[in-house]
Amino acid sequence: MDPITAMLEKVLAEVASDGSGETAAYIPELAEADPDLLAFGLVGPRGRVFTAGDESAPFTIQSMSKPFVLALALELHGRDEVFRRVGAEPSGEPFNAISLEARTGRPANPMVNAGAIATTALIPGADVDERTGRIVGMMSKFAGRSLWIDEAVYASESATGDRNRALAHLLKSYEIIQGSVTDAVETYFRQCSVLVTVRDLAVMAATLAFGGRNPVTRDQVVSERVARDVTSIMASCGMYDFSGEWMLRVGLPAKSGVSGGVIAVAPSQFGVAAFSPRLDPHGNSVRASRIVEILSDRFGMHLLEPH
Ligand code: GLN
Repeated sequence: MDPITAMLEKVLAEVASDGSGETAAYIPELAEADPDLLAFGLVGPRGRVFTAGDESAPFTIQSMSKPFVLALALELHGRDEVFRRVGAEPSGEPFNAISLEARTGRPANPMVNAGAIATTALIPGADVDERTGRIVGMMSKFAGRSLWIDEAVYASESATGDRNRALAHLLKSYEIIQGSVTDAVETYFRQCSVLVTVRDLAVMAATLAFGGRNPVTRDQVVSERVARDVTSIMASCGMYDFSGEWMLRVGLPAKSGVSGGVIAVAPSQFGVAAFSPRLDPHGNSVRASRIVEILSDRFGMHLLEPH
């Protein structure tokens, strides 16, 4: 076994016995996920992919879609237009909070649901399918393979999505969303339902880590500036109301999702992804977070560590 894979296996073994946390309960597909699944992936500068554990287990991307849709919105509209509609400040509140700036109605940032729905509404298209097609096309370039949607998860997201619908209507009342509220929110549910593996996510994170260039396919997926803007937002807002403490402890831009994944970006070094379905009270995976923390600690990867 090569030394990097051996290191991944060792970190997995260290966290394996931690059975704390609960799988997300709001839809059956997530509630019934095998809680013992555990996987870790890392992609380096020359596109070498290292994985360990349940590396081929598929799960939905959920909130880890948010950075990639933000990247697409930034590519299409530029920074000023996007941040006119969504802020760049940590909210200090849970991911589904109804927190909008009092005067303008701008959501705090694109990593909480309100901000993500506002970002999704910026993706053009005649209908939900066309908008979703653009988004899944962009995510596929980040991953270096064609991704698709888990229709059962999408149906459940849509059936239970009243809070997100309410957020979208509020955004429309402030004219943050223009056009169809239904299209915006259904597109958001579809983007959350894209199926990935830890390997896909590690490649996607690596594309952000290497200035928007996928190190496996060598495709320049988004500009260097867009990749930097996205990772900046992940650094301040990626772990919901744990983002400040995450920066303190781990020091890497990251994003979590309720399916149990965490992606993290070590700029110019590697992209990381970890997966384990049990979540802490913030909605971040217990073991996936711990994996990234151990990795950062062991290799002195905190961004603010003097080198
Ligand atoms: N689909 C979920 C929602 O919008 C995604 C949230 C998450 O991953 N934190 O509620």
